[in-house]
Amino acid sequence: MASPRWHGALAVLDEVRRTPGITRAALAQRLGLSSGTVTELTARLRGLSLLGETPAPAVGRGRPTTVLTPHPDGPAVLAVDLRHEDWRCAVAGLDGNPRMIAAARHADRSPDRVRDEIGQAVRRTAGGLGDRLRAVAVSVAGTVRGGHVVQASTLGWGPVDLSPLGPPGLPMLVENDARLAGVAEARGGAAAGSSTALHVTVEVGLGGCLTVDGRPVRGATGAGGEFGHLPFGDRALRCPCGAAGCWDLMVDGRALARHLGEPAPADPRTYAAAVLARPDPAAGAAVAAAATALGTGVAGLVNALDPGVVTLGGLAAPLRAAAATAFTTAFTGGLMSFRRPDPPPVRDAVLGDDGALHGAAALALDAVLTGEMLDAWARRTGG
Ligand SMILES: [Zn+2]
Repeated sequence: MASPRWHGALAVLDEVRRTPGITRAALAQRLGLSSGTVTELTARLRGLSLLGETPAPAVGRGRPTTVLTPHPDGPAVLAVDLRHEDWRCAVAGLDGNPRMIAAARHADRSPDRVRDEIGQAVRRTAGGLGDRLRAVAVSVAGTVRGGHVVQASTLGWGPVDLSPLGPPGLPMLVENDARLAGVAEARGGAAAGSSTALHVTVEVGLGGCLTVDGRPVRGATGAGGEFGHLPFGDRALRCPCGAAGCWDLMVDGRALARHLGEPAPADPRTYAAAVLARPDPAAGAAVAAAATALGTGVAGLVNALDPGVVTLGGLAAPLRAAAATAFTTAFTGGLMSFRRPDPPPVRDAVLGDDGALHGAAALALDAVLTGEMLDAWARRTGG
């Protein structure tokens, strides 16, 4: 619960996060507050280095107003993106816009080595930001339950504790990358404006997230959203997750290689991108089979979850584009008939490779923008 002291301030900061550059007049209207109240609130937030305020360009003969932005010396969060081949580190202010500050390919993927390398970058950044740094969020290409990596098969990891990466005393979040990308698409991407949104992404296997009002649905233990392990596949195929018949195995580079009678690729993502670019009929048939599996499964999720919008990330978007008829036939055919006249739009994700970083910054900022955290920030600035 926000302490009453910060109630109005948090509402203002939420609106500025949603619409950086919003005018003070528009803010007052959106919050249903008098211009006097908004003037008081913004002055207080400016004094606390939370908001910046500049005169808006004059429009017509209306009363002059100002534009509100995150303060350049305001709180910052650190977002880390730990992927199959590399890691990246970015800093974001209250606008949630990640600014890349460090990146490297994995020299080797042992958890100790990866933790060491990222840990050094985090400590360097924390040192530079000082007490402006208020939270850290790590995106992982793996299954995360309750803030712990339980399995990351593309990294060759079992359970790995990433909590030592966070500077002591700061909120530290660890989340699945597809889930974070879904959060980012729901808040400021292709699903913005839809209260219930489904994100589906294909990299190595398939992941995704259902978001409600921009928040991920995590399940009872936090490991929800493992859509790739729905049994939409061939029961004769055993998935590295331990289950049989996973959808994961039907939509990615491993599926394409099987259809083409080629050996299982060491790097299924690069392999899939190469097959998508091939002009030969055999490649086209393999792509159509994978697009059919994708469309069928997305229809099943739409039947089950009833999203207002579906977004496709990673290779899912080019896979659909390369075999649009196969995808659409499978998607429409898989929908319950009452849904067919008005199915949810299936859109390509717009944040691309940076979706998980945007989502990590967003959830880290959620943790920062609470009454308790603002109390601590105000004590820091003597407010
Ligand atoms: Zn599986």
